[in-house]
Order: sequence, then C-alpha cells, then structure tokens
Amino acid sequence: MYLFLALHSLSLKISSNCGSTTIIEPPRWGQQSGEEKVDKMPLHPEDIRPELKEDIYDPSYQDEEGPPPKLQYVWRNIILMVLLHLGALYGITLIPSCKVYTWLLVIFYNVVAGLGITAGAHRLWSHRTYKARLPLRLFLILANTMAFQNDVYEWARDHRVHHKFSETHADPHNSRRGFFFSHVGWLLVRKHPAVKEKGGKLDMSDLKAEKLVMFQRRYYKPAVLFICFILPTLVPWYFWGETFQHSLYIATFLRYTAVLNFSWLVNSAAHLYGYRPYDRNFGARENILVSLVSLGEGFHNYHHAFPYDYSASEYRWHVNFTTFFIDCMAALGLAYDRKKVSKATVLARMKRIGDGSRKSS
Ligand SMILES: [Zn+2]
Ligand SMILES: [Zn+2]
Repeated sequence: MYLFLALHSLSLKISSNCGSTTIIEPPRWGQQSGEEKVDKMPLHPEDIRPELKEDIYDPSYQDEEGPPPKLQYVWRNIILMVLLHLGALYGITLIPSCKVYTWLLVIFYNVVAGLGITAGAHRLWSHRTYKARLPLRLFLILANTMAFQNDVYEWARDHRVHHKFSETHADPHNSRRGFFFSHVGWLLVRKHPAVKEKGGKLDMSDLKAEKLVMFQRRYYKPAVLFICFILPTLVPWYFWGETFQHSLYIATFLRYTAVLNFSWLVNSAAHLYGYRPYDRNFGARENILVSLVSLGEGFHNYHHAFPYDYSASEYRWHVNFTTFFIDCMAALGLAYDRKKVSKATVLARMKRIGDGSRKSS
C-alpha cells in the first residue's frame, strides 16, 4: 500500500523551492586538533532552529563498562503484540474475499496514519524542521492518534534521545542490540536505566507549552481506542456491508500491524543495512527500501547527520511522499519556514566524513 504511493512520488522528481529556508552557511567543524576529534565534533552552524538542540548527537556520552542489566520483560505488551500479529496473519488469509472499499479504507488509513508519524511526530514535533498552522496541526494530531505509536510527547522524547545518544544504551532502540531489539523488542522490555536517566533530562519545554500536544496526551487512550480500533472496524461493516470478521482482521489488525512494522523498519533496517555517505560515524544508513514503505524516512544517514532538514533527505520528492505532502501544505499556506540544508554544506560533509560510497562531484 505504501509502495504504490512511494512509487508515485518516485515519478515526481521535481524540485520544489517555494518559500523554504535554504541554509547556505558553509560548515565549520570542531578544533583542528586531530582527525578523530574533528570527525566527532560537528558544531552544526547550519542548524538555525533557535528553539531546539536536543536532537543533536552528543559524542561525549559513552556506554559504561560492564555487563548490561538483566532484561525485564513486559508480559502485557508481549501478549498483546503476539495476538495482534496473529490477527494480522489471519487477516492476510482473508484478503482474497475482502471488498474493494475495505481495501481502499486500509490504504487511506495507512497513508494518513503514516503522515501523522512522519510529517507530525517526527519532522514537525520531534525535530521542528518546519512550522505548521493550526488546521494542519489538528490534522496531524488526529492522524498521529490513528497510528497509535505512543502520544506525540512520548514519541518525541524517545526520538530526541535516540538522536542525541544514538547506538548507546541511552538510545531506546539501540541497534547495537540487534535487529529484533531495535525493531520491536525494545517495546517488550523495560527501558534501560540510561534511557530513563537521559530521556528525563531532555528539554521538552517546547512540547509542554504546546496545548494541542498536551491535549492529545491527556485523552490519548480513549482517543486511540476509538480512532485506531473501533472506527475502522465499524465503518466497513456498517457502510458497505463488509463482514465483521473482515473488518476486524483486515481493516483493523492487519492495517495497524502494517503501519507499525513499516515505521519500525526505520529503527531496525535503516540502522543496520545501507551506506553512510554523509557521516560514517553514525549507525544510521541510507536504505531506499525503507523509504519506499515509510513515506520517505529511509534516508536515515542523512537524517542523523542533518536532523533539522525538513525533507529528512538530501532530495525533496525522491521516494519521499512526506516531503511532497509538506510542500503541498506549504503551497496552501499551512506549512512554512521549512529548513533545508544547502547542497554545499551537504557535499562538504560528505567529502569530509562520509564513507565514500557516493562520489560527489
Ligand atoms: Zn529523527
Ligand atoms: Zn535513527
């Protein structure tokens, strides 16, 4: 389902420049006192967000020596996750007898929920890469609730700490602990003490001050129950006579499981498989397959190198439906102040600390 839209956006390789902020300041790196130190101390002069620095990588933090603490399983989450995935697998067997309208609803729901994560929780609220007017923020908070991946405040706190202390125990889905842990395992065990300690110290004042985000947090559970589970189960059954079984297993379980796994691939596959042309110090990688299923979030080495870029990619509409969406919102006057890193800055960094996988001209 994402595949179709991603392929569609692939055909729209047109550059959009209307009204965004292009950062043209050349990069300066840390003190020239040895290559290693220079590589690890980018000063990010191209970041022009005055309100947020908590998603910038902090190389000074290292894991403490010694064995990792014992895993504490969260059995409620394990049981629910197993049941959900079993329900989704059963839903797959029902696809041949599923009505077309139900399938269309699944696609619609997945794209909207996906945008609630990518354009909402991620690029707007976690990284502040652009600004959005109230109607767009209302849409995004609703879409985000459809996705049910924790409320925006909690999602952003986990995500900022993931960027700041990437690939350490303070990273909630530390990919050094393997594919399964970074994909879903981190949701099935208690958080590592370092995540709690470092996450608790992050400055989240911008989100605490945003009434809409706090409103969603307050009413999150009943809102999720209604918009992510009850509504998509009842709509196909009531409006076009779909069987209750098809509605529940396809429009709800299979649909929700698909969005979850597509999003999780950004934390797992895009941290383990792919090249690192922009910064070889990061675990995050460029993975076009992840971009295909995640509305453009697989250009992950770039994104960790420049977390303030609204496109989360060197490019704009190239396999990136989220950027296409934000640009459409900008054309309508609902999004503005989109931050984009200049080509010169990108090329300079690629040349300096990239893995050399892409030849820059
Ligand atoms: Zn991010
Ligand atoms: Zn990442």
